Amino acid sequence: MPSYRAAQVLDWLYARRVSGWEGMTNLPRELRDRLNSHFSIHTLALLKKQGANDTTQKFLWRLADGALIESVLIPANPALYGDASDRHTLCVSTQVGCAYGCKFCASGLEGWKRNLTPNEIVEQVLATERWHAAQNPAATDRLVNNLVIMGMGEPLANYDNLLRALEILNAPWGGAIGARKITISTSGLAPQIRRLADETFQFRLAISLHGATDDVRNRIMPVNRKFPLAQLTEACKYYQKQKGRMITLEYILIAGVNDALSQVKPLGRLASLLHAKVNLIPYNRVEGLPWERPSEQSQDEFFRALNAEGVTSTLRREKGHDIDAACGQLRLKTEREMASV
Ligand code: SF4
Repeated sequence: MPSYRAAQVLDWLYARRVSGWEGMTNLPRELRDRLNSHFSIHTLALLKKQGANDTTQKFLWRLADGALIESVLIPANPALYGDASDRHTLCVSTQVGCAYGCKFCASGLEGWKRNLTPNEIVEQVLATERWHAAQNPAATDRLVNNLVIMGMGEPLANYDNLLRALEILNAPWGGAIGARKITISTSGLAPQIRRLADETFQFRLAISLHGATDDVRNRIMPVNRKFPLAQLTEACKYYQKQKGRMITLEYILIAGVNDALSQVKPLGRLASLLHAKVNLIPYNRVEGLPWERPSEQSQDEFFRALNAEGVTSTLRREKGHDIDAACGQLRLKTEREMASV
């Protein structure tokens, strides 16, 4: 086939997001039949959606093998990860379940089932945009222009599949999402952070820190016993040196666990060392777990004390509180409902 046919296929797949060969109407019939007999296009089935159209929305997708995963669409919020031109950020999953067992998280509650394939990661973006196009037939622009790899799973534990997916989502012929608009979040896999630092891509890195001392992190994040803060900090410094100022520290405030003001100084020191900004996120309750979000007064105190340390930080209070926003929560609820039926 002439090479321009490849460009046509890519355009249909990634720009027009068709979900079958039949829809690629500028390809000759013979080519469509040949493609159809050699390749299948797997799309995600939308099982549930929560949240109103102008707010944060959570999508629960069913994969071809019946497994469930979540993506979250977050409307424009310049203060989050990118700059003022943000339109929509999609938070995508990279694994079914999670092996890392952070004590406050719904995704890890029933363990790890499998890694997502590159196409299942990419398809979360395409399926969301397909859904949006169906709601807004007049819209011609792409919907998602920021990605955070922060949904279910530990992204760097599915390193190769993630990088392959991001290569496609970043490519001008694919998702066309700039590398600096893509944030990869990790619970602290130090060796993989170093590996990522040596890649050519300029992805942003977010560390799910949630504790500024080993004592606190060990209590809530088992990964810290393997890669304690000193090791994690060295890996982050290396990333920072290779990539420039591209690190964010995520800190979920949990009442009585990590919201003591004694955490502020070590957190401030770490942020200054890495030239990182801090996102404070009040905990979203997870059914079956004992953790609570701190009072608004405690959140404000922690936030003010951190600002007094000279750290750039945000307190993200409002988005997603009512939509089972904690990662993995909608999936867990739905799986349990389905099991009881
Ligand atoms: S917070 Fe992230 S790494 Fe920890 S259990 Fe949940 S999904 Fe896994």
